[in-house]
Amino acid sequence: MDTSEDILKDVENFCVKLRPIADVCYLEHKFNDQIIPIAKKFDILGLPVPKEFGGREADIFTYIKSFERIGIEGTGISTVLSVHSSLVQKTLMKFGTDKQKERYLEPSVKGDIIFAFGLTEPNAGSNPQELQMNFKKEQNSYILNGTKYLISNGTIADTILVFAKSTIDDKTSAFMINTNQDGFEKEELASKMGTPTTDTGMFELTDFKISTDNLVGEEGQGWQIAKHALIEGRLGVAAGCVGSIKDCLIESIEYSKERMQYGKAIAKHQLIQEHIAGIEVHLSSAEAMVNRAVTIKDKWDKNPEDKELMKKADLAIAEAKLFSANAAFDAADKAVQIFGGRGWSFWYRPGRHLVDTRVCKIYEGTEEILKLKIAAGVLGNQYQAYY
Ligand SMILES: Cc1cc2nc3c(=O)[nH]c(=O)nc-3n(C[C@H](O)[C@H](O)[C@H](O)COP(=O)(O)OP(=O)(O)OC[C@H]3O[C@@H](n4cnc5c(N)ncnc54)[C@H](O)[C@@H]3O)c2cc1C
Repeated sequence: MDTSEDILKDVENFCVKLRPIADVCYLEHKFNDQIIPIAKKFDILGLPVPKEFGGREADIFTYIKSFERIGIEGTGISTVLSVHSSLVQKTLMKFGTDKQKERYLEPSVKGDIIFAFGLTEPNAGSNPQELQMNFKKEQNSYILNGTKYLISNGTIADTILVFAKSTIDDKTSAFMINTNQDGFEKEELASKMGTPTTDTGMFELTDFKISTDNLVGEEGQGWQIAKHALIEGRLGVAAGCVGSIKDCLIESIEYSKERMQYGKAIAKHQLIQEHIAGIEVHLSSAEAMVNRAVTIKDKWDKNPEDKELMKKADLAIAEAKLFSANAAFDAADKAVQIFGGRGWSFWYRPGRHLVDTRVCKIYEGTEEILKLKIAAGVLGNQYQAYY
């Protein structure tokens, strides 16, 4: 039986081994193709998955601590693993059939298949209910057509959880699709501002035929499945941001004590101390919000039918994600400032966090949509401003 310490030790070793490789990837602005092999080596590709499918069966507190640790290496790195585990493995654990769990979970834990989550489309971002990918049923098959855009792990994934609308009643359903099949065309997204170490891509399905066994949950349940997945995913993003803030603090303390200007360490200048204090307060606040969200989520996990707990967890996680993403971006900005001209370079870690955390304010719920969601949560659903 793995203890929490065993799991966190493997996560630590993964991070230590990955760092020199990630350094080069940031400098050369290239995808880090060693994330998966090293994660495989330290057996961290199935942290939340039950033992019966070969996973580590980490409790939610250990799972989230793992993402806080990985976030120190950069949210671009935590994204790869969060999509694989939080968005897809956890969705299969909750909504998958026994056959799907057997087919996908064990190979995904071993790293033989890597997952992606395909919700966003060129014309459906903040409002995924406007998606246009469609499916029609033909005897024992579904035929899918449409395009998904801005998908993390999009060109490296072997299997993708996609969402599509019925051509008959417009209701959304979720499907597992394998990418090594005819009718799948993919393209990597070039020229990204940040997260160079993550793969981001788009893909098109043309008359893509799958068995009815690939339907996840029930027909028409897709939107509910997507919402559950995003709750899990946002918690992972928030935890990654906590790690990123922690790294900004570590780096800023070390650098400001070493760098001398006006005859003393810059750490002795009061305006530098203001930046350090700001990063520290971001860290303790983001940590507290993530801990609160995890505690509520844990209660909901133990009472999955409790709708009130679901609402509370959804809201607490949205708040934690909104706050942590903004705090992480601001912490990185402050750290870049402490590093002065050197900060404006990928040779130093704060600049990497600055570009990586910027997108945390966009994916898995933009900050605007999360604010509206939080406001509706406290005002009441009749005040929901987005629909
Ligand atoms: C690096 C990266 C990785 C991603 N990974 C994935 C992934 O793995 N899977 C996936 O499915 N998607 C992924 N996404 C997509 C991401 O979730 C979307 O970009 C995001 O939901 C916003 O959609 P959009 O880009 O179409 O922006 P839009 O929806 O066009 O929004 C543009 C702006 O308008 C604002 N806006 C929109 N509607 C409202 C409103 N009602 N009120 C106020 N403001 C509003 C938005 O907040 C935003 O500021 C990724 C994106 C990026 C950049």
